Amino acid sequence: MKGLIFAIERCSLHDGPGLRTTVFLKGCPLHCHWCHNPESQSSYPELYFLHEKCTLCGACVKACPKKCHSLSVSNHDINRVLCAACGCCVSACPNSALELKGNQMDVWEVLEEVEKDRDFYVESGGGMTISGGEPMMQYEFTAELLAQSKKRGLHNCIETSGFAPMERYLKIRDDVDIFLYDIKESDPKRHLKYTGVDNRQIMENLFEIDKMGSKSILRCPIIPGLNDRESHLEEIAKLAGKLKNIVEINVMPYHPMGKAKSGRIGKKQPHESNDFTENEKVEKWIGFIGVRTTVPVKKG
Ligand code: SF4
Ligand code: SF4
Ligand code: SF4
Repeated sequence: MKGLIFAIERCSLHDGPGLRTTVFLKGCPLHCHWCHNPESQSSYPELYFLHEKCTLCGACVKACPKKCHSLSVSNHDINRVLCAACGCCVSACPNSALELKGNQMDVWEVLEEVEKDRDFYVESGGGMTISGGEPMMQYEFTAELLAQSKKRGLHNCIETSGFAPMERYLKIRDDVDIFLYDIKESDPKRHLKYTGVDNRQIMENLFEIDKMGSKSILRCPIIPGLNDRESHLEEIAKLAGKLKNIVEINVMPYHPMGKAKSGRIGKKQPHESNDFTENEKVEKWIGFIGVRTTVPVKKG
C-alpha cells in the first residue's frame, strides 16, 4: 500500500518521547492561518521553489512540457495552475532549486527508513511519529504503517488535528502508544475563523480517545495576537484537568518558517508575522498554564 509522503525526518526530539523519526503525510482538512507545514495541506504533489538557489539558467524552461516557467533578467515565475507536478524541471535543474513535495512510498519503504535508527529508539525511548498534514486523510495507509511498525516492536505516536471520524481513531488505537493531539483554539468561533473548521468534533474525539484509555499529549500552537490570550491558556489547563490519560502539554510557539514555505509553493499564508516568538513569552505562557494544572507543561 502506498502513501503520499512529503518528508521523513530522522533524529526529531520534539515529536513525542525520545529520539524519533517523523513521517509527514500530505493532505489536511484544516487551513490554519499560521500553518507550520503549508506544503502538507494539499493532497497532491507540489512544486517547491528555492529562489535563492536559482541562477536563471533556463534549464527548467526547456524541460517543462507545460511551459510553466518564465524567466526575465531578474525574475523567475512559475505558472502553478498549469503545473502538473511531473517533476521534469526538478531533474533538469542543476542547482537543486526545485523540489517535488509529495512522493508515493510503500509502507515497507517508509519502515526501512524508520528502522535505520532503531538502536537510538531503544536507548532514548523513542520511535516513529506519523504527522502531516492530517495523517487520517490517508487513513488506510496510516493504519497499515502503524500496524506494521507495531509488529516490528516500535513505539508509535501519531500527531493529529482530531478532525476525523472517531471510528478511524478506534481502529488504530491498539497500534498507537501516544496521540499527539492538537488544541489550536478553545473558542469555537475563533477556531472556525483561524482553521476553517469548528472544534466540536475535535473536542468530542479527544474525550473519546481519553475514555478508551489512550495516552495523549496536548499540542498547543500559541500564536501572538491570535490565541495567546489568558482565557485560552486557562482553557488549556482546564481541559488537561479533565483528561485521565494525558501525559503532558506542549506549548508550540509561532515561528515564521511556515510563511516562508508558503511562498515556495506559490501560496500566501494568512498570518503574516515575520517574528519568531521570544523565549520570555514562551516561558510566561508555560508558567501561566503550569500553575493551573498538575500536568507537566513543556515547550514543544
Ligand atoms: S513539475 Fe512538470 S509541469 Fe510543473 S513546472 Fe515542472 S516540468 Fe512543468
Ligand atoms: S533550472 Fe534551476 S537554476 Fe535554472 S532557472 Fe530553473 S530553477 Fe533556476
Ligand atoms: S492542522 Fe496542521 S498541517 Fe493542517 S493546516 Fe493546521 S497546522 Fe497545517
